[in-house]
Amino acid sequence: MLEGRIIKSLAGFYYVENEGRVYSTKARGKFRNKNIKPLTGDFCSFILDENNEGYIQEIKPRKNMLERPPIANIDQALLVFSITHPDFDSLLLDRFLALVESRHIKPFIIITKIDLNYDLIEKIKTDYSPYPLYFVSSKKKIGLEEVKALLKDKVTVITGQSGVGKSSLLNALDIQLNIETNEISEALGRGKHTTRHTELIKMYGGYVADTPGFSSLELDLTAKELSVSYHDFDDYSRECKFRGCLHDSEPYCKVKEAVENGKIARERYEHYLMFLKEAKEKEERKYD
Ligand code: GDP
Ligand code: ZN
Repeated sequence: MLEGRIIKSLAGFYYVENEGRVYSTKARGKFRNKNIKPLTGDFCSFILDENNEGYIQEIKPRKNMLERPPIANIDQALLVFSITHPDFDSLLLDRFLALVESRHIKPFIIITKIDLNYDLIEKIKTDYSPYPLYFVSSKKKIGLEEVKALLKDKVTVITGQSGVGKSSLLNALDIQLNIETNEISEALGRGKHTTRHTELIKMYGGYVADTPGFSSLELDLTAKELSVSYHDFDDYSRECKFRGCLHDSEPYCKVKEAVENGKIARERYEHYLMFLKEAKEKEERKYD
């Protein structure tokens, strides 16, 4: 029995890497009946037949996963946002942060195009001080080495809305992904999902996920999950009077107090309340 990591899944085949070799494998038999579908990023055990065709036997427990793109065991996410052109979108950033935090994926905020506008840098630094922040310009070659260093030995997903300068950044970091190809086949009208596959590309001792990034605009979190997904609340939420405080209308909420005292960015908290409302509405619909 061999063990390895699935680095690509395509058309029913799973490509499993083991000691520098990649084996094409299938998931047969027992997997059909189980509710678990192998994912790119999974660690698995597999056997080889006489033709060197592999068969997955078991999927190891996952550290975490994302549904879109379907990928497991992710270490970190680079959230790429431009400071301008398009405008810095703090609402979207807060959504992404809540999503990746809730999945135990470490976020890194990458702010691009800083050659175009310096004014916002201080505000972003203050509002997002609990998070690792990187300010870059692919055009002026600022901050690139620091971002490159992040990738070392890690499994990384990179996401960013179109236009934020993600391709320019990847190029500047010498990362060749096939993201464009995916977009082209979408433009040809073949449907979004048929040509998309998720692949881990070996890079700087780790892997970068070759996907258009996750763009889950809908946060699939319960109110409870959301309430613990905001890192900047941690120091205060421990002191909230009520266990399971959702930091909304509960009395003696230390998070709200910290917002009032300027310790937590008000805008981030306001976005939190929006997400909380969405999560509660979703939960109510579930019980209707
Ligand atoms: P993507 O859609 O996120 O992949 O964005 P692109 O990399 O294609 O960049 C979108 C536009 O922003 C292009 O016109 C780039 O030339 C421009 N751009 C990207 N990075 C920078 C930068 O660091 N500074 C400036 N001034 N423009 C940039
Ligand atoms: Zn609270």
